Amino acid sequence: MGVGDWVRSWPVYRQLTGADRLGRGSAAQSARSRSLLPRTASADRVVNSVCPYCAVGCAQKVYVSDERVVQIEGDPDSPISRGRLCPKGSASKQLVTGPQRLDKVLYRAPYATQWRELDLPTAMDMVAERVLDARRRGWQDHDEHGRPLRRTMGLASLGGATLDNEENFLIKKLFTALGAIQIENQARI
Ligand code: SF4
Repeated sequence: MGVGDWVRSWPVYRQLTGADRLGRGSAAQSARSRSLLPRTASADRVVNSVCPYCAVGCAQKVYVSDERVVQIEGDPDSPISRGRLCPKGSASKQLVTGPQRLDKVLYRAPYATQWRELDLPTAMDMVAERVLDARRRGWQDHDEHGRPLRRTMGLASLGGATLDNEENFLIKKLFTALGAIQIENQARI
């Protein structure tokens, strides 16, 4: 690099001689920064979605490349969030791509010290057996005056904030049909 090039690569020189007199844009940009492209630029397609984290329901644009989520941004067309996402919503790509995300069922039997993997049908059967057993053991058919109760005190549901409206609707229907009366969501606590 000659002396002239070196001087021109100096941000202060570019600030004093170029259009970016405040030094907040092109004058302060390095050659490497200029060569970088956002992950959104290489996406094959963009899918409209809704942030799963809370009931605000900010709209998202999910950028997909080679069938993998490469970036999630706020959707400027949303009248709710107008392109904005809070820090949690901005990090929601990790929810689908994080390496710590478990994608196998793990089971630790009573008194066992190790987890072991279960196939999903086996795990679902075990959950169903326990739900039915707890429901039966906690069932109250009548109160002490003979008035009908038809409820179970053996089950409760506590939903997390990442559940969406549709999931909460189905969970409420399921647990009410099972006779549970303690049905709550983290968002109301
Ligand atoms: S971006 Fe933040 S405020 Fe918006 S829905 Fe997600 S968690 Fe809620």
